[in-house]
Amino acid sequence: KWQLIDEEVAVLKTKYSEINSSKVEKFTDFPLSKLTLDGLSASKYSKPTDIQRESIGLALQGHDILGAAKTGSGKTLAFLIPILEHLYREKWTPLDGMGALIISPTRELAFQTFQVLKKIGTSHDFSAGLVIGGKHVREEKERMTTTNIVVCTPGRLLEHMEETFNFTADSLQILVLDEADRILDLGFAEAMNAIIENLPASRQTLLFSATQTKSVKDLARLSLKDPMYVSVHEHA
Ligand code: ADP
Ligand code: MG
Repeated sequence: KWQLIDEEVAVLKTKYSEINSSKVEKFTDFPLSKLTLDGLSASKYSKPTDIQRESIGLALQGHDILGAAKTGSGKTLAFLIPILEHLYREKWTPLDGMGALIISPTRELAFQTFQVLKKIGTSHDFSAGLVIGGKHVREEKERMTTTNIVVCTPGRLLEHMEETFNFTADSLQILVLDEADRILDLGFAEAMNAIIENLPASRQTLLFSATQTKSVKDLARLSLKDPMYVSVHEHA
């Protein structure tokens, strides 16, 4: 099984440098793993939206991304697809711990992202978990150390970083800051600084925001390395 994955991944990687987003019409025009394409078609997603078309190729190539696009433009798949591909390339298993972390402003948005992840990730073997607080603190603590893809809110994540003794983000491959403007509007700027300080520097980071405020730019400067700017405007 691993050998077949190695072969598929080797072929996919040779195609990354040739991605031409202006020629992409369907998700199958991107060099994506069969398992991800299966999840997308099972979820009835066939054509990428503008922000997806512009950012997925750059993310596959390993760039950090600062993405701007209004609400409803499809930012969720713009980061979930690169996450699945990144961990697949690394042959991530539950034993490898937390490989991807998605920070959402609210429990509701985290929940929605988690639902989409479960749908499009259904063919993959990764474990995914929501870390948004609530009653089951102990379960959540256990989950933090064994989950491959964690979807969380900033306050809750920071609590785990400070209180869950065996929590570690050392193996983190890819970080997503979703709806960064709302995260900051809700007063999480300091929490975000503390979180980012606790994450390994050798990671890929994707930051998405509907608006580009001064505080979003500050957070981008703190969290991104040589980012590619992807901005999708409404057609007039
Ligand atoms: P945003 O995060 O930018 O506000 P979402 O990722 O929540 O946007 O997507 C908005 C809506 O568009 C959702 O209902 C989602 O299912 C739908 N959607 C996203 N991408 C696609 C696509 N490629 N094809 C069809 N519908 C899509
Ligand atoms: Mg969104």
